[in-house]
Amino acid sequence: SSFSSLHIEEGYVRKLEEMDILVPSPIQQESIPIILSGKDVVAQSQTGSGKTLAYALPLLQKIDKSSKEVQAIIIVPTRELGFQIVQTLELLTEGSDIRIQGLIGGAALSRQIDKLKLRPQVVVGTPGRVMELLKLRKLSVHYVKIAVVDEVDQVFDLGSMQEVEAIFKGMQRGRQMLFFSATMPEPIQTVVSRWMQEPAYVQI
Ligand code: AMP
Repeated sequence: SSFSSLHIEEGYVRKLEEMDILVPSPIQQESIPIILSGKDVVAQSQTGSGKTLAYALPLLQKIDKSSKEVQAIIIVPTRELGFQIVQTLELLTEGSDIRIQGLIGGAALSRQIDKLKLRPQVVVGTPGRVMELLKLRKLSVHYVKIAVVDEVDQVFDLGSMQEVEAIFKGMQRGRQMLFFSATMPEPIQTVVSRWMQEPAYVQI
């Protein structure tokens, strides 16, 4: 299998080649077609499986480059993971009209507020910081059409799931939702049933 046969656009395939990424990993093979089809997805996968690209590639292909609304949000439990994801997305979108902004706790709030004025279409954030920016009305998730929560089990362990659900409340119906998690304890299933519609389950 190849990324092209999964309907990944040639520009991204080139970028992947530059990173020496040639063959889709199992989680990518399974998830990419389902995400492109528009379904909600619950994916059980470990770090190192290639989960970031499994959602990042189809997510980027869904962005309307001519619109300056925030169209995709990726919520992460930790700053470190957030920075890693921003870095991956920046590599993939280098030279394109897609702008990425990290909204990560601990970093300067005023700088993130300034950067939001540049109208990123994709944001990557930790729950507390995203909520803070929503309350300040510096960020809107009203036009989000795809929302990812990465390492959902860790988001729970850190006690941040209530904030994540508060963020979901600002989104319109019909948005696509993707959960990635190493484990799937009961509380995650409860949130899945509350927010997702007939999700596809991917297990690697
Ligand atoms: P992740 O599971 O997303 O944290 O990815 C772990 C590492 O695997 C990252 O350094 C990726 O660059 C790399 N990677 C992701 N997909 C592939 C692939 N299909 N082939 C080779 N390496 C990959």
